[in-house]
Amino acid sequence: MTQSVIQTDRITRRFGSFVAVRDVSLSVERGSIFGLLGPNGSGKSTLIRMLCGVLRPSDGSGSVLGVDIRKDPEAIKRRIGYMSQKFSLYADLSVLENLRFYGRIYGLSPARQSEREAAVIQLTGIQPYTERLAGQLSGGWKQRLALACAFIHEPEVIFLDEPTAGIDPVARRDLWDLLFELSHRGVTMFVTTHYMDEAERCTHVGYIYMARLIALGKPADLKAAPDVTPTGTRRYEVSCTNPTAALARARTIPSVRDATMFGDTLHILLDDTVSTDALLAQIAAGDPSASARPIAPTLEDAFVILSRRHARDAA
Ligand code: ADP
Ligand code: MG
Repeated sequence: MTQSVIQTDRITRRFGSFVAVRDVSLSVERGSIFGLLGPNGSGKSTLIRMLCGVLRPSDGSGSVLGVDIRKDPEAIKRRIGYMSQKFSLYADLSVLENLRFYGRIYGLSPARQSEREAAVIQLTGIQPYTERLAGQLSGGWKQRLALACAFIHEPEVIFLDEPTAGIDPVARRDLWDLLFELSHRGVTMFVTTHYMDEAERCTHVGYIYMARLIALGKPADLKAAPDVTPTGTRRYEVSCTNPTAALARARTIPSVRDATMFGDTLHILLDDTVSTDALLAQIAAGDPSASARPIAPTLEDAFVILSRRHARDAA
């Protein structure tokens, strides 16, 4: 039987008359990696802060590990790990001193502290740097140390707010390997990110847009949703020498339901009454290198379509 570790029911947070998170209902199962995506300012950090017991909801309810976030935020803080978006390490303390500082916050006994120190050092591979000041670590190692600190008291659930923002691709992959390692041990992860490739690696994802959760599910299910590729349409990747011009032309054609840049190609959702030859003749006439191949939708395609629809409905 699956067990839900995080649950919210129409949770809402207002700042004055501004609604930062509106009616978000979700449930996260034990051991899953839940990825929360959404543009800047959509409410990701506000939602995480409510779940971590540091910000009170204005409306609705939520629980983490069975603890009500309104009634007992202090109990939640003790039982979870939280890597906030703003840097929470002490730059002028060494790696080891940071681990001890966080251990003390969580009230670990000296014996338990040494046991956990050894465990998180082993987990993150930070042994060579234990005497180094946190402020002198590279971005990737800082994030590993932050994760080690968030895991020092062995919480069952960890919240990570944009843990890979601003670190290089290798460090990003290493950090994800660590997240998988923790998830295999049964730790539940709630991660916010801007990166679509990270979203694809999550077991479940949510997309928050203008304070509302507009998509929720497994990546494969979201991509397969009928809204994403409506009946009577097909999705193509178009390569050509001038994709920007082709995009502008594509957007004037009624049988093109959707067109977006994707790297240096276009992703086009086309009525299947129209052939790709006819499409190419209209958007890349005279370009002998232009080609179109059928593709499956990506998560980004799914989120783009869902947020456009939402913006249209809201207007
Ligand atoms: P995200 O993490 O998705 O970028 P946030 O949750 O940080 O978004 O912010 C959502 C919205 O709420 C933003 O418009 C932000 O300016 C606003 N907001 C966040 N915290 C506060 C606050 N303490 N007071 C007023 N507005 C806030
Ligand atoms: Mg944020």
